[in-house]
Amino acid sequence: GGGALLIDGKRASEEVLATIAATTREVVAQGLKPGLAVVLVGEDPASQVYVKSKGKAAQACGFHSVQYDLPATTGEPELLALVQKLNADPAIHGILLQLPLPNRLDPTRVIEAISPSKDVDGLHPVNAGLLAIGDLSRALVPCTPAGSMVLLDKAAAALKFDLSGAEAVVVGRSNLVGKPIAQLLLGRNATVTIAHSRTRDLKGTCLRADVLVAAVGRPEMIRGDWVKPGALVIDVGINRVPAPSQDGAPAKTKLVGDVAYAESLGRAGAITPVPGGVGPMTIAMLMANTLRAAIRIGGLKVEF
Ligand code: NDP
Repeated sequence: GGGALLIDGKRASEEVLATIAATTREVVAQGLKPGLAVVLVGEDPASQVYVKSKGKAAQACGFHSVQYDLPATTGEPELLALVQKLNADPAIHGILLQLPLPNRLDPTRVIEAISPSKDVDGLHPVNAGLLAIGDLSRALVPCTPAGSMVLLDKAAAALKFDLSGAEAVVVGRSNLVGKPIAQLLLGRNATVTIAHSRTRDLKGTCLRADVLVAAVGRPEMIRGDWVKPGALVIDVGINRVPAPSQDGAPAKTKLVGDVAYAESLGRAGAITPVPGGVGPMTIAMLMANTLRAAIRIGGLKVEF
């Protein structure tokens, strides 16, 4: 056991979703129903689960929600044609292309075909560029980084911790997670270090962090003694690992983060658990982006 504040991502996501549902009622009353289209190519079981929960969340928020299930044999021209159709559809404000695509298809070409104003995953280079120049009033920010910041803000508020001027270390530099989180932290005036697989002294780098964000994809790689006492720890990693099972029982698995959670509890000032931390925030931020896209496209004067 230890003294770390546990940041409850499930509860935070429910709060965000409740705000979205309330704002959506206001937007609908002004004659605009936010619409989300989710495009799935192929039959990857994990992707099918994600797509289903995104559709459910959209409906719960009061959105118009459509799902396109395309066969794994779909060619790039057909996929691009669907994207063009959705770009032009006034009932659709968010287009989500579920990744990964089957190997034959190049995701960058399809992502770049999505209208930046409807790119609710925030992966289009226009949105990455708007984030990089700090224009958050126009950017659509990737969902997991945006959700990580909501949890970090909660922790900072609870511990009366000022992000401005703080040492922040982000481990991981993917375009989907690490880089955008680093941009968001920089936008909040943190002093940001981005570490990755070539970083020489990873432990020493992590030990400097008042804010430590792990987005690596390696189970419990960041050990408890890498955590600076009192640090705010955001664990983005979701790793499925074997779990001990009783004699004779079928092999089981469990989810762990990139941070050794139990070891870190006695050191961190606050920490997000896995599962139940950043994970639940991602879908909530997808809904937030869809609502934001609808408000911007519709030119509504609604505070959100
Ligand atoms: P990527 O594999 O794209 O990126 C991993 C990053 O970690 C890379 O920058 C890589 O460095 C770095 N890295 C790998 N090994 C090491 C190491 N030994 N030491 C230091 N750095 C290392 O993963 P993603 O960014 O897409 O995802 C990261 C994690 O977040 C995963 O566990 C994923 O499951 C999870 N995730 C969770 C989401 C959620 O909803 N909560 C959503 C998306 C992802 P380099 O660039 O040098 O190769």
